[in-house]
Amino acid sequence: MQQTLRQVINFSAGPATLPETVLQQAASEMLDWHGTGVSVMEMSHRGPHYMRIHEEARQNLRDLLAVPPGHHILFLQGGATLQFAQVPLNLIGRGDGADFVNTGDWSAKAIKEAARYGAAREIASSQPEGFTRIPAQSSWKRSERAAYLHICSNETIRGVEYQFDPDDHGVPLVADMSSNILSRPVDVSRYGLIYAGAQKNIGPAGLVIVIIRDDLLGHALSATPTLLDYREQAQHDSMLNTPPTFSIYIAGLVFKWLKAQGGLAAMGEHNARKAQRLYDCIDASGFYRNAVAKDDRSRMNATFTLSDPALDERFLKEAAAEGMTDLKGHRTSGGMRASLYNAMPMEGVDRLVSFMRQFETRYG
Ligand code: PMP
Repeated sequence: MQQTLRQVINFSAGPATLPETVLQQAASEMLDWHGTGVSVMEMSHRGPHYMRIHEEARQNLRDLLAVPPGHHILFLQGGATLQFAQVPLNLIGRGDGADFVNTGDWSAKAIKEAARYGAAREIASSQPEGFTRIPAQSSWKRSERAAYLHICSNETIRGVEYQFDPDDHGVPLVADMSSNILSRPVDVSRYGLIYAGAQKNIGPAGLVIVIIRDDLLGHALSATPTLLDYREQAQHDSMLNTPPTFSIYIAGLVFKWLKAQGGLAAMGEHNARKAQRLYDCIDASGFYRNAVAKDDRSRMNATFTLSDPALDERFLKEAAAEGMTDLKGHRTSGGMRASLYNAMPMEGVDRLVSFMRQFETRYG
């Protein structure tokens, strides 16, 4: 892996750390992209230079995820949160409401928003267990007539991740992959629609990637704004209006970087090793604890608590003094969270683990 340890090791859940070489390249091209004399930010989105950037980004993403020819790749805006509305606006009219598996804060938000447009049924939930696991598929109370079935493949806040692609039973699967897209190979053909905000494994916040199967286009409710109609966006190459050109350019650099790392198979192995190292440290100690069922632990967001929460502030302060930032857990769940996205090098995890061991020796 071509990864360097930077001065600040940023464990933020997003916006998150990006590959240093990508940032360096963007910096070196900032004033003059490939001898054009202008910045990507200043280019017409319909001009040949930007069109090349746009096309290359899309093709590289298609290659990385092995997106089948019948699926469209869209570069949209509004973050993943807008998808909580855009998905039902476009799809819920196809059937009798939609089914949702509730595994945490982000799936709950998707359910709440979808309920504005039709029946949003919670067909399984891990809420009674404090969102610490993925409910077994056999317990999901699916409806055959649902327009789609929605999951959140990685719950960023509590650190719970699907380790399998659910069966679709003839109902299109929709997945919010904001916090684990591109972290390992995924069989895109099993999904009707995948969406992901960019600010974790892809690039700048605001950009959102949508991958949608062709037959799911053209079902938008009549009140759907044109800009939010997936079919319109697919027909206009995500250029119905001015797209977020600079964000797409940065995402394109990240896609090239991922290819140079060996693609998603290599990334997946690397990410699994990183997460294992941190979870091993947690499990070997009586001082740190992760509440998630072992089989459902996230490889992207590892959450843990200290045996004495009174030490939380000291932990964060001492970690920051050693250059490790953004380890504070989400405000709704407390504790700690280390996000280990693609751009986090193994050395970053090693540094954290050795700090945690030391801290335990001193205060445990
Ligand atoms: N879904 C998941 C899984 C997330 O982690 C987030 C953001 N952390 C969102 C949705 C919302 O993303 P955005 O802020 O880009 O709207």
